Amino acid sequence: MSIDISRQGRETTRSGKLVIWKCRDCAALFAPLTRLCSSCSSGDLEPVLSAGVGVIVSCRVVNRAPDPVCGVPCPSVIAIVELDEGPWVYSWIDGEVSVRSDRPVRVCFRYTQPGQRFPIFEPRHSDPVLPENPAAIQL
Ligand SMILES: [Zn+2]
Repeated sequence: MSIDISRQGRETTRSGKLVIWKCRDCAALFAPLTRLCSSCSSGDLEPVLSAGVGVIVSCRVVNRAPDPVCGVPCPSVIAIVELDEGPWVYSWIDGEVSVRSDRPVRVCFRYTQPGQRFPIFEPRHSDPVLPENPAAIQL
């Protein structure tokens, strides 16, 4: 089974939840936009909901294009986040820019256009209640 990457992008932010992928053959979990299982090479992946929480594995402050309002470069933090379910996600961190590694974060969504959401992460200050197992969702 081949995975439509644009379909995956829509499903990544389905209903305001972060969606990851589970291999139907070996149950390994993968980050959004994964097309093949790296454990068994299966292309038979199903979307499952992530709790959307994890920790920063690595991060870096970068200057993005100047803000159109204030005209100055916007420092932003780009990071690799290890989700509590295991997959690593490459994303932006919202809020303060002086983050450190192992900082707990949770997903939040930035609305770029009507109907489109972009998942980013923000520092979290309390432990979430995690599901026992990622739940399969119906498409
Ligand atoms: Zn697999």
